Amino acid sequence: MSLHQRYGKAGDPKTFLINMKYSKNKVLGETTLKILKEKITLDKQVLILINKRGYAPITICSKCGKKETCNSCDINLVYHKSRKKLICHHCAQEQVINVKCSNCKADNKKISLGFGIEKVTEEISKEFKNISIISLSSDSIKKNNFSEVLHDIEKGKIKIIIGTQIISKGFNFLKLDSVFILDFDLWFYNTDIRTNEKIFQLTQQVSGRTSRDEETGEVYIQTYDTKNYLLKHIILNNRDAFYERELALRKKIALPPFSKLVAIILNSKNITFLRKISIDIKKMLEPIKGIIVLGPIPAPIEYIKNEYRYRILIKTNQAFLVQKVLRKYNFNTILSNKAKMKIDVDPLSFF
Ligand SMILES: [Zn+2]
Ligand SMILES: [Zn+2]
Repeated sequence: MSLHQRYGKAGDPKTFLINMKYSKNKVLGETTLKILKEKITLDKQVLILINKRGYAPITICSKCGKKETCNSCDINLVYHKSRKKLICHHCAQEQVINVKCSNCKADNKKISLGFGIEKVTEEISKEFKNISIISLSSDSIKKNNFSEVLHDIEKGKIKIIIGTQIISKGFNFLKLDSVFILDFDLWFYNTDIRTNEKIFQLTQQVSGRTSRDEETGEVYIQTYDTKNYLLKHIILNNRDAFYERELALRKKIALPPFSKLVAIILNSKNITFLRKISIDIKKMLEPIKGIIVLGPIPAPIEYIKNEYRYRILIKTNQAFLVQKVLRKYNFNTILSNKAKMKIDVDPLSFF
């Protein structure tokens, strides 16, 4: 439970929104580029944050609309240009890119949608020739030269740092002048119930990082959603208002800490069997007083590593009750070696 966690006083950082609605360049908005150029002219060091690894999160056939998805999981493959491969970020399976569409057989019709750190690095490198740039993601960080890279960043030798969220954790770059978040809107689209809190803390951390005693750090956020309440609180640096609203929201939908959530994840290679036992288990649990049983529904990633997954969610104020109940039943008979069951109390994400 980190809702009341406090960070050290972050000075008085300034946060600015960059409205992307009228921007022609969807990766690096014209306003963003202008500010970046001013910063570099003034010999400042900047950090560009981007959530997605790889070049583009979606590869699609422009003729028939077929997306490239993982054979083992039910999610889009991410195009990694540097390795000329499509990679599943969930199971790490790799595929070579076939120019022919597997569905409509058209040649050379595949296009990539969205952007990841590789594409941002490509665009930045085009705009800033002869400027020292480093691109850091879990793909590019090699342990042996990372300390060297960190040293160059700390000394201010590197002017533009492009990084995924790994760079926002635990590093302290004292020469840093400003932070640019390019894909802020996408940060919401995951299944983690603590996303809002994480985003708020992250912006506080990065703005805290840029502001030293005598100077004020700046954070620039590209967004299409300029009226977003979270952004409003971030701009005003209004921590109390943010947490108040977040607590009220959680209370309303009975999320932790106001109610316990217990997730039962069932997986099996046999989808028919899985559906049947999911319903059987729900029926077993439903008569129990003091709990609400939701589902079963296919888990957000329904198919992973060649197995189907279903999820039952239990809401209750008494987690011990659920544990007691789950211990009482012998699920092995139901599962009969054809399915597996996992219990997750207060799941952080619903994968
Ligand atoms: Zn096609
Ligand atoms: Zn996969």
